Amino acid sequence: MRIILFGPPGAGKGTQAKRLSERYNIPHISTGDIFREHLRKKTELGRKIEEYVKSGKLVPDEIVIEIVKERLSRDDVKRGFILDGFPRTVRQAEALDEILAKLNMPLTAVIELKVPEEEAIKRILIRARLEGRFDDKLCTMKRRFKEYEEKSKPVLDYYRRKGLLVEIDGAKSIEEVFESIIKALEGVKR
Ligand code: AMP
Repeated sequence: MRIILFGPPGAGKGTQAKRLSERYNIPHISTGDIFREHLRKKTELGRKIEEYVKSGKLVPDEIVIEIVKERLSRDDVKRGFILDGFPRTVRQAEALDEILAKLNMPLTAVIELKVPEEEAIKRILIRARLEGRFDDKLCTMKRRFKEYEEKSKPVLDYYRRKGLLVEIDGAKSIEEVFESIIKALEGVKR
């Protein structure tokens, strides 16, 4: 199972990715988590990406692609993987295609979690209270939505054309969304 979870901030990608990772026993790869870890540890990469992540801007493609390339070169992805928050631009999607072609690991499906913006904002505000994520502030959030609209949405067409896109109603409960994803994946040929 090689899956991409796609959707706006607050769509529930992280939540569903964790569950899918347990269900299929495959690694959950979140570029956002990787970046936050670098910020926490104050690494050199952390310093490079700090301004972007803190202001809600996308980190430059070259940096993100390098990180994912390294992560996908490890042995544990041979069983499959769930990508959460990557790719977020068409250039990243093209780079991913190249990386996966070399590894002979074609994608199983790209799951789009469809959530209306008001619902997504509500969820982010709840997360801000629960987890205290520094990029869940209102101005940063607006920026993240803008980035999504402008740079990430075109990725949907990219995968739709390839016949990989599966649309899921992400506005339901965590359990219901999870069941819809499992059902959809069972219908996808591997
Ligand atoms: P996330 O946890 O996926 O919402 O990501 C948090 C932040 O990390 C984003 O707002 C971006 O600044 C950065 N980031 C994560 N993934 C990517 C990506 N694929 N491309 C560019 N920036 C990213």
